[in-house]
Amino acid sequence: KFITFEGTDGAGKTTILNMVLKHLEATMKDNLVTSREPGGNPIAESIRQVILDRNNVDMDPKTEALLYAAARRQNIVETVKPALENNKLVICDRYLDSSIAYQGGGRNIGEKAINDMNQFATDGFLPDLTIYFNLPVEDGLKRIAQNRDENDIDRLDVETIDFHHRVHDAYQRLMKEYPDRIYAVDARQSIDDVYEDVMKILQPYVNE
Ligand code: C5P
Ligand code: MG
Repeated sequence: KFITFEGTDGAGKTTILNMVLKHLEATMKDNLVTSREPGGNPIAESIRQVILDRNNVDMDPKTEALLYAAARRQNIVETVKPALENNKLVICDRYLDSSIAYQGGGRNIGEKAINDMNQFATDGFLPDLTIYFNLPVEDGLKRIAQNRDENDIDRLDVETIDFHHRVHDAYQRLMKEYPDRIYAVDARQSIDDVYEDVMKILQPYVNE
């Protein structure tokens, strides 16, 4: 099965994902394959460097969207699909929903345009399950301001509050559009409580 983690910035996605992976790596061993977007393999990680490089803040939004789709394609073909064919559980940090929210909503390209363009890149391939870390924009930004990881490469310092709201609103629409695929967890809770919720959702997919 193919499971993705999604969320706005500061929602705790990476923190919880690290806890989940630590647990599952111990229990599932070789049956677990992890990946992230953009990235997951050398070609896609190279594309990640180009996209998130601060020197490239003037990148055209459609150029950015195409690079995300290119990295996604490479990740599917090289990592995700082969692992699924070998009956592995694949957990990916971000996938198409991120592009719909960030490039479609955040960058104002439009959610439908991003979805259509990614149809070509993904052949319509969607996750079996998506866990969405649901958190109000202001809460996320507060958390980022409080504990910024200096090693994180991103462009958060140049995005406007409106950008973050457009991303958040697009995610809310995706939740409504795919109620059977996207499970939201209340990311306002403590780390331990969010972790517990996530493990409960994952339980049917984890053969321990
Ligand atoms: O998930 P992670 O924090 O690693 O994402 C890195 C950065 O890339 C984030 O700041 C996020 O806002 C941005 N991003 C984006 N469009 C995507 C995926 C991530 O703008 N499709
Ligand atoms: Mg992050």
